[in-house]
Amino acid sequence: MITRFAPSPTGPLHLGHAYSAMLAHDMAMAANGTFLLRIEDIDSSRARPAWETQIYDDLMWLGLRWPEPVMRQSERQAVYQDRLVTLWKKGILYPCSCNRKDLLSAASAPQEGAPLVGPDGLIYPGTCRHLHDRSGPFPSAAVLRLDMEAVDLALAKSVGDVVLARRDMGTSYHLSVVIDDAAQGVTDVVRGADLLDATPIHTLLQNLLGLPTPRYHHHDLIRDENGKRLAKRDDARALSKYRTEGATPNDIRRLVGLPEQ
Ligand code: GLU
Repeated sequence: MITRFAPSPTGPLHLGHAYSAMLAHDMAMAANGTFLLRIEDIDSSRARPAWETQIYDDLMWLGLRWPEPVMRQSERQAVYQDRLVTLWKKGILYPCSCNRKDLLSAASAPQEGAPLVGPDGLIYPGTCRHLHDRSGPFPSAAVLRLDMEAVDLALAKSVGDVVLARRDMGTSYHLSVVIDDAAQGVTDVVRGADLLDATPIHTLLQNLLGLPTPRYHHHDLIRDENGKRLAKRDDARALSKYRTEGATPNDIRRLVGLPEQ
């Protein structure tokens, strides 16, 4: 069994991340398997080296260990581009030149009623879907969407044409996570219920790219005393804060309802 924890270094880890990481770690250890850490830093406008360092410190403090070197998505642009070219050659991607304003105004046009929102945000109204020749060379600097109607009618309705290559990134969360879970041989993905709706998008991409589908385990989210789920900006529950206040890793395990070690 291979599990992984795949944080983005865009803020401090909080109790919810600790829960996810420890669950994935404990599951691998119980099966005599391997727990991996992967840094999901494709968004260079938000990722910071200092947050990445703090991720290593926090997880080490929790008692988690993982093989080195750690996979960092910012170093894998060539792999993502290669798989995008594969999808492009199938004729199921198209370049999109809509900006945020275009999307909002198209989605709220009077005859359309309220904007339709799916798990990936606004459901794309399809403005650019048939504007471009798909048989030309791969458009490497473009925003690329997946033509969902061509591959999955149910997801076309509920999610729409997801972006697989974001502006200035050459990839997206959905594409990178699927490619890297397969590249690392991850057998069991352990992650929060907030990503439940992303899983059908991931299994679709695995099918399109000929990659295996791991087992998915979605855990409950850790909530604050008001029942609100913790967000990156909730510094109040940052792991480092508990650490500097003298808590122990077993205190954190108790707080999130995991057996002590
Ligand atoms: N990198 C994602 C995040 O920070 C998690 C990816 C996943 O577990 O699939 O929320």
